[in-house]
Amino acid sequence: MRAFDFTAARTLPEALRLAGPGSAFLAGGTTLVDLMKLDVLAPGRVIDINRLPLHGIRQARDGLRIGALERMSDVARHPKTYPVIAEALALSASPQLRNMASIGGNLLQRTRCGYFRDVHMACNRRQPGSGCAALTGDNRTHAILGTSDACVATHPSDLAVALVALDASMRLVSRSGERLVRLAAFYRPPGDTPQVENDLRPGELITEVVVPRLPWARHSTYVKVRDRSSYEFALASAAVALDVRGGVIREARVAAGGVGTVPWRLPAVEAALRGKPPTRATFEAAAAPAADGARPLRGNAFKVTLLKRTIVRALTSLEGRS
Ligand code: SF4
Repeated sequence: MRAFDFTAARTLPEALRLAGPGSAFLAGGTTLVDLMKLDVLAPGRVIDINRLPLHGIRQARDGLRIGALERMSDVARHPKTYPVIAEALALSASPQLRNMASIGGNLLQRTRCGYFRDVHMACNRRQPGSGCAALTGDNRTHAILGTSDACVATHPSDLAVALVALDASMRLVSRSGERLVRLAAFYRPPGDTPQVENDLRPGELITEVVVPRLPWARHSTYVKVRDRSSYEFALASAAVALDVRGGVIREARVAAGGVGTVPWRLPAVEAALRGKPPTRATFEAAAAPAADGARPLRGNAFKVTLLKRTIVRALTSLEGRS
């Protein structure tokens, strides 16, 4: 780990004033400190933001507002949290990490591609232009959707998948003002610039997440398929919510994780569900186009089938609760 300046900000204006080139905000530290120890990140200044008033979970007129410094475990337990969000959080990381990690940090966590975390390997995301060791190396856990010749890393956050399904937004503040950005527009597929992972601008800080009012999304769930039953990232996951009335699906939300370079909303699957009865035959037919456009690698072609089965399992188990 390299030497760095450490400052604990007491107010939001102070934190924004301290932010500059080469600085990093510290909340739970569960990603940042790891990557600093590995020499993947080397900020010259670390700004502790844990004293800032960015806590609270409340129902507002525009939806459910979740403070960026709320811990994952607290959001998962909160009665106002939609089931798909609570389950995505409960299936993430380990209890110790969920008690430390913040919601804002979860949404900004870096990829878990092993080559990204090893400074001796080629990685365009860590060192632009150096190549991508995963293309010819071990790519079993990598993405099949949204990939490029420069990077095939999956987005690691389960929470982001649930939030993209619910069309949530995040509020970002900087010295220039504030803006509300839809999560679906925030994350960037790698293209030719995998080092640019999202739309966060220099000096910006996430202050809260806003989940639009969606009463029928109380009928929602998150299914995560992984190599072991805890403390593991998704091979494939599905966030689903259904509005079923009179034996017909009126509205549906479906997004996938573990398969895309960004949280992957599936509008074609949602469209195929609308107007149909909530049966297994409907679910299987709707999931059929889920992997359209996939570019499987040598080690992860199994994800094409796994993704469709994960969606069917999520929809079937959700309807089983009704
Ligand atoms: Fe780096 Fe992306 Fe290739 Fe992994 S997949 S080695 S993160 S460029």
